[in-house]
Amino acid sequence: MTSVAYIWSAELQRAADKLPANVGRSSLVHGLVRALGLLDNPPDHRDTVREGVDGQGAGSNGGHNDEASRDPEVTWLCSESGPGEGKEGGDVEDDDDEDDEDDDEELTDPPIHGIRVVPPDLSFATPTELRRYHDQRYLDYVLQSYSGDNSDSGSSADDDDDRPTKRRREAMGLEDDCPRFPALRAYVPLVAAGTLTACRLLVQGTAKMAIVWDGGRHHALRARASGFCYVADAVLGILLLAREGVPRSPGSKRRARILYLDMDLHYGDGVATAFTSPTHFPYPLRGRPRAPQVLTLSVHHQSRIFFPPGAPGLTPSDTPHPFSLSLPLAAFAHPSTYARMWRCVEMVHSAWAPDYIVLQLGVDGLPGDRIGQWGAWSPHGEGGSTWVVEQVMAWGVPTAVLGGGGYEHANAARAWALATAAIVGTDIGTDTDVPDHESIEAYAPAFTLEVPESNVPDENTEEAFVEAERTYAILSERIREIVAL
Ligand SMILES: [Zn+2]
Repeated sequence: MTSVAYIWSAELQRAADKLPANVGRSSLVHGLVRALGLLDNPPDHRDTVREGVDGQGAGSNGGHNDEASRDPEVTWLCSESGPGEGKEGGDVEDDDDEDDEDDDEELTDPPIHGIRVVPPDLSFATPTELRRYHDQRYLDYVLQSYSGDNSDSGSSADDDDDRPTKRRREAMGLEDDCPRFPALRAYVPLVAAGTLTACRLLVQGTAKMAIVWDGGRHHALRARASGFCYVADAVLGILLLAREGVPRSPGSKRRARILYLDMDLHYGDGVATAFTSPTHFPYPLRGRPRAPQVLTLSVHHQSRIFFPPGAPGLTPSDTPHPFSLSLPLAAFAHPSTYARMWRCVEMVHSAWAPDYIVLQLGVDGLPGDRIGQWGAWSPHGEGGSTWVVEQVMAWGVPTAVLGGGGYEHANAARAWALATAAIVGTDIGTDTDVPDHESIEAYAPAFTLEVPESNVPDENTEEAFVEAERTYAILSERIREIVAL
């Protein structure tokens, strides 16, 4: 079994359960993973007990969170004030600012053997950490207490003069898909802290794989909520990897490289926007432009009417931005299409040779998803979501695996439980019964882990495969050339 951190705490689950688009999903996912025994180490893999985390057994709440557990108002959110240094979007190649926190004093935990449940490190759940990407005014708004009255006069902000107006709320995207909700001020920092904790464990070498099923909020922008996403946890985690990570090749003087791979049915616009390099890389190349640290690749359904608006089609082979990649799928992509398109992903991975991977495993491409609708993916078989996880693990690179979309909650739980099983190396058959536990009724009528496959015809064509492969062969060679400079 590899070394796996499973990011969870009761507070995180409680807050994530309140996400308006996914009410109760977090409980369902973690409940199924736990019921399947995936958080239990076999006796010969007993982990070194870390006081306050494992001392209470897998799934227990760590000592880090005791304060928040006692305090439903989560006062630690308000413990900081003062102007921040909101970080602009754009690439991070010059992001070697000194840390303004006491990160250097962090003690490195001993490596995990087997799987360990790790709560979000609350030292990351602060406005200072969130400001590493998010806009101060946006944070001021989402972190203020909110009673549930969404009218303009319903804010309970103390400062009446700064009471948000409807226009301001619109500008921040906090309506329609992304309404405010009372748990938002706990949800945003906890989800960010979850993914940041995962990435820190990868940098420390404490874990080789780190799972954050409540993370992967890939539409959130620096100053705007979008597509059910309020916090850019993936961006924050990648920024940490870029800042603190080291190249895997010993003695290398270059900076760590990160691959963000997004498998959600929707284009990962928030993360792509954050890391699209302002540097242009003309084709053919002129000069010696320095490669960015982050490459984003989104495999997604794309059509004129599908969210997000303006999602790109196939990245042109002569794009000036070969580190911001889009691999679009036509409607009803079956696992065989994902398997075929995976050749493009392999080409990019080989050329980029990342030191860290952040995999967003949104599963709204599964059949029957009430939001996805245009998907025919599967957790099962070659090209399925579990297979994707296995392919990524075969690269042998420290990887954070995040959640994302998935609006048929029982299927999302099935897919992520199967992915968790693959990560911890437990073989679970598709026809495995869902164990009796508090949410068993959600898995009616079959009560197994199987997600029935779609019988809607796949609209992806051989011509599209050939075009994508031809394009990605060129893009990959361009990436290889720039990286070698
Ligand atoms: Zn999605």
